[in-house]
Amino acid sequence: MKAVSHNKKRLPLYAKILIGMALGVAFGFAAIALHCEGFVSDWVAPLGTIFLRLLKLIAVPLVLVSLILGVVSLKDIKSLSRIGLKTILIYVCTTIIAVSIGLAMVSLLKPGKLFPEDKQTEFVERYQQTVTEREAQMQQVKGDSPMQFVVDIVPENLFQAFSSNSNMLQVIFFALLFGVALICVGQSKTASVVRFFQQLNLILLKIIDFIMAFAPLGVFALMAGLMVDYAGDVGIISSLGMYALTVVMALAVIILVVYPVILRLFSKKKLGQFFKAVFPVQMLAFSTSSSAATLPLTMERTQKHLGVSEEVSSFVLPVGVTINMDGTSCYQAVAAVFLAQVMGLDLSFGQMLLILATATISSIGTPGIPGGSIVMLMIVLDSVGIPIEGLALILGIDRPLDMLRTVVNVTGDTTVACVVDNKKELHINA
Ligand code: ASP
Repeated sequence: MKAVSHNKKRLPLYAKILIGMALGVAFGFAAIALHCEGFVSDWVAPLGTIFLRLLKLIAVPLVLVSLILGVVSLKDIKSLSRIGLKTILIYVCTTIIAVSIGLAMVSLLKPGKLFPEDKQTEFVERYQQTVTEREAQMQQVKGDSPMQFVVDIVPENLFQAFSSNSNMLQVIFFALLFGVALICVGQSKTASVVRFFQQLNLILLKIIDFIMAFAPLGVFALMAGLMVDYAGDVGIISSLGMYALTVVMALAVIILVVYPVILRLFSKKKLGQFFKAVFPVQMLAFSTSSSAATLPLTMERTQKHLGVSEEVSSFVLPVGVTINMDGTSCYQAVAAVFLAQVMGLDLSFGQMLLILATATISSIGTPGIPGGSIVMLMIVLDSVGIPIEGLALILGIDRPLDMLRTVVNVTGDTTVACVVDNKKELHINA
């Protein structure tokens, strides 16, 4: 997949996004101070929603087309299975590291012990309805058989699979199936189909260019809307401060220690170059809370600014955006143990291991959308016998933490793309 072309403009994209975010926060605060929150929710926030919708709109076609092209560019099933296996293995490893960091941090800081008891009943009453809704969704996701998770990866209807961003695993399944079949039929007979997808890809990239031009205004509106939404919830933030801090610290360790170490050890990319390239992606992930919506920019920056080859990034990133969620899995571990601590449940080592396993698996099934992991978190809680009603205690502060874990999710995908790309170079050189 080719990188998105940009006209030379004075300000780089990351600066524009940053300015948009800062102005959005300031605008939100000003609106609160002047009591014109209504203006923001009626006239400004919808612009953010439009921006988010445009990004989500492009997510399914982008994953489909770039994955098919990614598979086809690998030319044979052998290199597909080699790169595929390597990618999935690295993804699982980084996820396990992320969950372990979350578990270590929450066991060390014990934020659950500091949670004020009176807030417990208040939060349970306040979020009861949301919890009940999520519980119904969880039952649906869980299904009757323990194999339901695997069954759900296989779509029974293509258009149904394409109809929701949370069905991304089904889209990936179809794209892989289609790509593999395309390779098997042979290049001579499928050249025009491949050309069709290449041209479709160019069109999608142009659409992404258009959407990105809207990004500074989009993030401005998203941040202003968020400030106004959150204005009344300062009390929640303060009573959950230690919990939030634990999540933030665990995520910081992943971004500032784990990824740099992985990059130093397994890739040739310079850390400065990496973080410079990934910064706008992180900012967009932060303001949209959606790694799927951030995918177009992740692809562009990874190819154009990190020099990761098209064949690797078109395969690794669309897959990663769906199955690799280090921030999410780390967060799920912290949340689960935090709730156990609040409820006075002592978790055994075996239960911790169970959290490690379920958080790893459930992050694979988490859609890259805002709040995508909440339903999956219920499955983690359920598996270790933590009452799922506990979710009510942490829902109020979920959005800011979602923004941060999405930043980690996209940084993790980019890190792995660099590693897989590098390994491939070494392999070819050898
Ligand atoms: N918002 C996250 C993402 O898109 C998923 C989650 O943790 O809720 O990556």
